Amino acid sequence: MSRFWSELAGNLTPYVPGEQPQGTRLVKLNTNESPYGPAPGVLAAITATTDDQLRRYPDPQANELRAAWAAREGLAADEVFLGNGSDEVLAHAFQALLKHAEPVLFPDISYSFYPVWCELYDVEFRTIPLAQDFSIKPGDYAQRCGGIIIPNPNAPTGILLSLEQIREILISQPDVVVVIDEAYIDFGGESATSLIPRHDNLLVVQTASKSRSLAGLRVGAAFGHRDLIAGLERVKDSFNSYPLDNIAQRAALASLADESWFSASCQRVISTRERVALRLLGMGFEVLPSKANFVFVRHASRDAAELFSALRERQVIVRYFNKPRIDQFLRISIGTDAEMDALLEALEAIL
Ligand code: PMP
Repeated sequence: MSRFWSELAGNLTPYVPGEQPQGTRLVKLNTNESPYGPAPGVLAAITATTDDQLRRYPDPQANELRAAWAAREGLAADEVFLGNGSDEVLAHAFQALLKHAEPVLFPDISYSFYPVWCELYDVEFRTIPLAQDFSIKPGDYAQRCGGIIIPNPNAPTGILLSLEQIREILISQPDVVVVIDEAYIDFGGESATSLIPRHDNLLVVQTASKSRSLAGLRVGAAFGHRDLIAGLERVKDSFNSYPLDNIAQRAALASLADESWFSASCQRVISTRERVALRLLGMGFEVLPSKANFVFVRHASRDAAELFSALRERQVIVRYFNKPRIDQFLRISIGTDAEMDALLEALEAIL
C-alpha cells in the first residue's frame, strides 16, 4: 500500500539532465560546457584559499562579488542576486516572481527544466509554439499571463532575440515579470541588463557555467530592479542564507577580474562554431543560426537517432531529444578545434 508521502513526491516528473560520464576518453559535446579552462586567476584564487576561509561561514550577502558583477553590468549591488548555478536562481524566480493565478508563458521548445519547476512549485503554465523557422515571435507573448520566461539565445535552437524584440515583450507585459535566461548570451548576443533601468519587471539571469568555464563550481546570478531582487532574497533566506561558499565567491571574483581571458575564450568558441557550421552545411545538414556555444542541426536524409548512436559508437557524445518537432535534430556543443575535427571525421565516416 502506498503511503501519502510516496505519492506526493512520486507524482513529480524528475528532470533528466544530459549524461555526465566522468573522466572517460569520450569527446563530450552533450551539455554545452566550455572546452577551455577558466581564467588562470580562478585556480590561483582557489588554491590560495586560507584556513580561515574554510573555517568560517561565508559572507551571506557575498557583497564583494555582488558589487563586482553589478559594476560589470552597470548596475548597483542591490540589483544583483547570486545562487549556486543559474538553475538555483531560476528555481527561486519560479517561486518568488512567477507564481500568479494566470499561467506563466514560455516557448515550446525551450529549456526542459521550466515545466519541471512549474510542477514542483505549483505554477500554472502555457507553452507558446515556436514559429515554423524555430524562432520566437514577440507578438505571441502579448496575452494575459502570470509571467514570461524565455532563454536568449533559446535552448536548444541557439536562435537569438534582439534587444528590440525583448523590449517589445516588456512593453506589452508591464504588469508581470519577464525573465530572460541568458545562459548562452556571451557567444554572440547582447545582454538585456541594459534594459533594467527602464523596465522594473525585467529579470535577467546569467551563469558562470558556460562562458566562464565554471560549470563545476556552480555560480549563477540574476539582475533586476531591487524589488525583484528583494523577492528572490526572501525566498532564498527561507531555504539557506548562504548563496555561495567562500571558494566559489573568490573564484567567481577572479573570473570577473579577467576580461581579456573572457573575451578571447568566447571568441574562440564563436570562430570554431562558425567553421563547424559551414562544414556541417557541406555535409548535408541544416544548421539553425546559432548565437550559442552549440549548434542545432538535422540531416537531409539521415535519421537523428541513428546518427546519435553511430557517433556514440565512435566515442563522440552529442545530445538527441526524442520530442515531437525536434526529434530529427542533434544538438552539438562547441568543443576545442581538435574535438570538433574528431566529430567531423566521425560524421564523414558515418554518412
Ligand atoms: N538555462 C539554460 C537555458 C541552460 O541550458 C542551463 C544549463 N543546462 C541553465 C540555465 C543552468 O545552468 P547552470 O545551473 O549551470 O547555471
